Amino acid sequence: MSARPPVIRVEDLNVWFDLPGGGELHAVQGVTFELRAGARMGLVGESGCGKTTTILAMMGLLPATASVSGKVLLDGEDILVGGEETISPHRWSDISMVFQGAMNAFNPVRTIGAQIAEPMVLHGMATGKSARSRVAELLELVGIAGDRANRYPHEFSGGMRQRAAIAMALACSPKVLLADEPTTALDVMVQAQILELLVSLSTTLGQELGLTVILVTHDLPVVAQVCDRAAVMYAGEIVEMGGMSEIYHDPRHPYSRMLFAATPDLLGDDEVLSIPGAPPRLDREIVGCPFRPRCDSAFEPCSTVRPGRREPVAGHEARCHLNDPSLTELPS
Ligand code: SF4
Repeated sequence: MSARPPVIRVEDLNVWFDLPGGGELHAVQGVTFELRAGARMGLVGESGCGKTTTILAMMGLLPATASVSGKVLLDGEDILVGGEETISPHRWSDISMVFQGAMNAFNPVRTIGAQIAEPMVLHGMATGKSARSRVAELLELVGIAGDRANRYPHEFSGGMRQRAAIAMALACSPKVLLADEPTTALDVMVQAQILELLVSLSTTLGQELGLTVILVTHDLPVVAQVCDRAAVMYAGEIVEMGGMSEIYHDPRHPYSRMLFAATPDLLGDDEVLSIPGAPPRLDREIVGCPFRPRCDSAFEPCSTVRPGRREPVAGHEARCHLNDPSLTELPS
């Protein structure tokens, strides 16, 4: 692994939401990871596991009902520490995001080019002619002719609008790009083009500008196609994290194993299994392992002791007692 320091480090990130009837929901629980320039990590898990909340917290874009603790270190500087004051200089310029359904979020009465230019103008990075020329450059980068900047959103196809949303997120040359389900609702061909685009941006810009990509998705084949690392989330926690290939071939958490088994095989030669049960409620205290009621490998300590982070293999960590030799090895 490269000796370069991480470009982004998330440290013990927690998010709670106040509930209307009182009480709170602990949506993100102790999320910690770090990534170096040019890395592409997939953040995967079932709906409601905390993926989107994690990246919205990293951008400082959660609603007022949310409380956040922990650190988001960008090149070593904690951008969460002072709230909006410390995040806003970095939002869009150093850390940027493609929102879920971004292709439908363009203002219909403004040109695509004017909307792509907005973050640059906001950060004082370009105005007038320089902004127009940068917009054309960005459109070319995502495979759209630069002279289409004066078109309106309805003149673009869904795939082109999604590419334009990526161009907008790249406008200020960020170091980190957070992409939330960027291919949902696109047809298979357009999806493949967008994924190819993300890989090429990360590899070409990875050398030049250090673009690091975090891809949020529930779609494991998409992660396998695009990412070199994966973090599997369950009930607000990262339960397994490591190289994509290592997690796929040697999962160290039963949830990851079951998640792969529940993914249709493109060749159709494996039976697709479902994961029984449902995730636990996050507005209640969880005793023991949050995955225990659904786990086919649970054993005695799982019902009383919450598993901590363990690294059974260098660079591959999991929160599961099966990785704790003191619990699994029989006394001689
Ligand atoms: Fe299953 Fe126990 Fe591991 Fe939890 S700690 S995933 S219940 S084996």
